[in-house]
Amino acid sequence: MHRDVERILINEEEIRERLDFVAKKVMAEFACDGLVVVILLKGALVFAADMCRRLPVTMTVECLNISSYHGDIKTSGKVEFLDKKMPEVADKKVLIMDDILDTGLTMRAVTDALLALGAAEVRNCVLLNKRKQRAGDCEADFKAFDIDDEFVIGYGLDYQGRYRNLPYVGVMKQGDI
Ligand code: 5GP
Ligand code: MG
Ligand code: MG
Repeated sequence: MHRDVERILINEEEIRERLDFVAKKVMAEFACDGLVVVILLKGALVFAADMCRRLPVTMTVECLNISSYHGDIKTSGKVEFLDKKMPEVADKKVLIMDDILDTGLTMRAVTDALLALGAAEVRNCVLLNKRKQRAGDCEADFKAFDIDDEFVIGYGLDYQGRYRNLPYVGVMKQGDI
């Protein structure tokens, strides 16, 4: 375990098992040939790489650079699109992949933007869903885990840009935050 991690919340094996389960659900309920997967960088990078490989359809993969946290532990409440060009999604079924649904503001903003670009249908798939009251009216369509409202790192999730490479989801030691 990394020295900055207080405890492991979800280990590698649990992640593998749940991803198998969620992928089957996505296959049964939404995925089809022609699917566009939109990965929200950088947090969803690790999750999406593992998830996409479990969806045996003909898909295209797009990435969006979204900023709402600015590397810290609280959301700024403002969702910024950092890309010059948006993906082409007109008449496509789109599956947004993100690391975590917290306030829901990011997912709401991205979903609305993709619908405005003419996407036929937009759903989301997240690794983690925080059990809490949300500011935005956005819920997870597909999720691997529900977690309590605490700050987590690893498996793509960062604190000030670090810890994305940890193969598990963990809680940081107090004092490091
Ligand atoms: P939302 O817009 O739903 O509030 O925020 C979503 C984004 O905030 C996530 O994609 C993620 O980047 C970041 N975020 C929210 N909660 C956490 C957390 O517990 N740990 C980390 N590392 N990032 C988080
Ligand atoms: Mg994110
Ligand atoms: Mg972050």
